[in-house]
Order: sequence, then C-alpha cells, then structure tokens
Amino acid sequence: MKTEFNFAEYADACVKCAKCVPDCTIHSVSRDETTSPRGFIHLMANMQDGSLMLDKNLKKIFETCFLCANCVTVCPSKIPTDLLIENARAQSVEKYGLAWFKRAVFFLLKRRSLQNVAAKFAFIFKSCGFAKTQNGMRARFSIPMMKRGRLLPSIAEKSFLNAYPERMNFGGERTAAIFIGCLANYAYTSVGDSLLYILKTLKINAFIPKDQLCCGAPSYFTGDTKSTKWLIKYNVEYFELFIDSIEAILIPEATCSNMIINDWLHVMRDEPEWIERIKRIVNKSFIASQWLHDKTDLLSLTPNLSQKIASVTYHDPCHAKKTLGVFKEPRALVAKSYEIKEMSAPSQCCGFGGVTIQSERFALAQAVGKNKAAMIANANAAIVSAECSACRMQICDALESYGAKQTFMHPLELVAQALKEYKTDA
Ligand code: SF4
Ligand code: SF4
Repeated sequence: MKTEFNFAEYADACVKCAKCVPDCTIHSVSRDETTSPRGFIHLMANMQDGSLMLDKNLKKIFETCFLCANCVTVCPSKIPTDLLIENARAQSVEKYGLAWFKRAVFFLLKRRSLQNVAAKFAFIFKSCGFAKTQNGMRARFSIPMMKRGRLLPSIAEKSFLNAYPERMNFGGERTAAIFIGCLANYAYTSVGDSLLYILKTLKINAFIPKDQLCCGAPSYFTGDTKSTKWLIKYNVEYFELFIDSIEAILIPEATCSNMIINDWLHVMRDEPEWIERIKRIVNKSFIASQWLHDKTDLLSLTPNLSQKIASVTYHDPCHAKKTLGVFKEPRALVAKSYEIKEMSAPSQCCGFGGVTIQSERFALAQAVGKNKAAMIANANAAIVSAECSACRMQICDALESYGAKQTFMHPLELVAQALKEYKTDA
C-alpha cells in the first residue's frame, strides 16, 4: 500500500511536550504511554523505518485510539495523529484483513434493500434477543460483536427513509435535502421527524433522497479503504443527480457531517478526478444545527420561555466541536426553551470510538463511558443532549450502566418539542 504519511517526519516534529497526554481518551483509561498520541506517533515511525514489525500486537495498539482528535487540537506542532492512526489502520487491514463480522457489516452498509430486510427482521425478533429498557434494548446473550447485557438502540418499525415521501412541499421557495445517517434512519427516527417538523415550521421544503447510503465513517475508522471509497463514489454520483435543485444537504449527525465535509476529500486524495465533484457536494453540506441557526429564522421562532421546559446538559461530539467548530449553535437553539446546565468537560470524548472499540474492545468504551456518565450525572440536568447518534448510543449505555437517570434527546428533538408545545408563544 502507498503510505501517504511520512511518520518519521511527524515523529521528528513531535517536541515531546506531552500537552496531548492529559486530554488523550485512551490514555485516560490505559495510563500507558504506549497508547498515547506521542506513543502512537513513535510506534508508527518505527514501523515505517522497519525497526518494528506491523504484527498483531501493534495492530491492536493502533485499534485502541478513539479518534477523538483531542490531541490534534492541543498539539503545538499540529500533528494530525487521528489521520496517522487511520492510515496505520488501513495498513493493518491490508496485511491482516477484516474480521468476518466487520466484512458482513460493511457489505450490508453498501446495500439499502438488504439493510431494510435486516432492520425488519431485527424489529420483529427484538423481543427474543433483547430486553427493553428506558434508553434502548439490552442483549440477552453474547454474539461475536456484542457482549450480553449490552445496550443497543431500539430498531424502529419503519425507517425514516421509508416513512415519508421523497419530496415534501412545505409551501416555501427554499428546499433542503436530508442526509439522515444509518442510526437515525433505523433506530432514532424521531431525529428525522423533528428535522422535518422544524423545516415545516420554517416553510422550507424537504427533499429526502431515498437511495442515500452510509457516509463511510464506520469503514473509514476501521481501515477498510476499499468499502469507504465505494460508498463515497456511490453517494457522490447519487447526490450529483439533485445537488443543483437544492440549497443545502442537512446532516443531523456530527460523525456523518465530518465524514462528508472533511474526510471524503481526505480519503479520495489519490484520485484527483473526484476532488472537484466532492467539493461540489461538500459546499452544500452542513451539520443541521449550524445551517438552521445561521441560515434560517429558527432562532427567532423558537419560544423564548421564562419558565424553561426542562434542564439540559450538552455534550459536544468530537466530530462537531473539534473538527467542524460547531458547539455554540445547538446550545443557542436549545437555550431559549431549556435551561442549560453545563457539565464539567462537555467536549471530553464519550468513548464511542468506532466499530472495533464497540465490538472487540468494548471494555475500553465502558471505562471511558463511565467517566462521562458520572460527569453527566453531576451536572444535575434532566436531559443530556448531543447532535450525534453514535454519542447517543454510547452515552445511553453508559448512563444505564452507571445508574444515572438522565434521558437523552437530540437538540433537534428538543427544539421541535418546544415549537410544538409552545406554538402560540412563537
Ligand atoms: S485521537 Fe484521541 S484517543 Fe487517539 S491519540 Fe488522539 S487524543 Fe488519544
Ligand atoms: S502535543 Fe504534539 S508535540 Fe507535544 S507530545 Fe503530543 S504529539 Fe508531541
């Protein structure tokens, strides 16, 4: 495989200041310098110069990074450790391949009709394999990618993409498309319902592209470059069919937003014929809260209540604040109707980490999640919110395991609820 990064150059650029270490998510639970940003960088440099072999042990070390980008934001040498890790993981996959269940997941993510069948099957039989809880459903038994007792989002009877017509005319001149993301499509469907309600309130027509597929984030973070490129090319070709007829593509998901806005260009860097085509899509793609806040009247329409509906503590998804710079917008939209009670470190990673951490290394996700759950509980708010379904899945599991009582709501669910309940005050 062509190695894009000169790892040795980055190792030389590292001034060993250790500014990245206290904020590193994996180091916060491993307390081992090997699994810290500067540890990873030097291991990659050693791997590149041949003094260290990329064996299964080294592969496992690279798999422990949560890709939270905390290190990138504090590093004085601006070392993109997350991108280096993604590159090292791609080399691992090239050498050792993927576990069968990851191949199965990525195969499924490329096929909408099969996903629909699998979701239908999961919905019908979920009561056999799972016990219902406040925030989702807990597995009654273990399978290779999921331990017994694990909380998963509850699969909806009808996916968001199948629940609405492709075009919804809300009586306005403007039209926004929706890229919904896999988790909100099949499980957290009220996120899409809420976005539609908000667009209707704003008289912005909605276009729901039915044949959209996964943005590629799960395969990218796992090192499966082939599947990632396939999904990017498929989506770009599909989006090109309607991109000139819409004003924006709204993405109510931090990880999908960052994948499309930042990582698509990065993944396709060695195929320059795709770059301009991707840029055309990226120029119209936005994380939903940012576009609604900056480009519409939503802030003035949201009820400004003296008696707030409930208290909310807001978690900043890594792929919203650190990579897209979006953190004020969802708070501003929510704060008019809800009391914001900040947790001690809202941008501390929740511990989702991606497919490998959520399956083979789930103990790491639990360790990080426990700290986040304690922080949320200490904020003493009734609701925790974040614009990310991956964070939602991880935080809900952590809250229930920790015994915390907070419920989770997406910021668009909160705003839509306020608009519905206080319509006459708007
Ligand atoms: S991306 Fe996060 S977990 Fe990975 S090395 Fe950087 S700070 Fe640590
Ligand atoms: S912050 Fe950057 S320069 Fe400092 S130790 Fe970490 S990787 Fe090296």
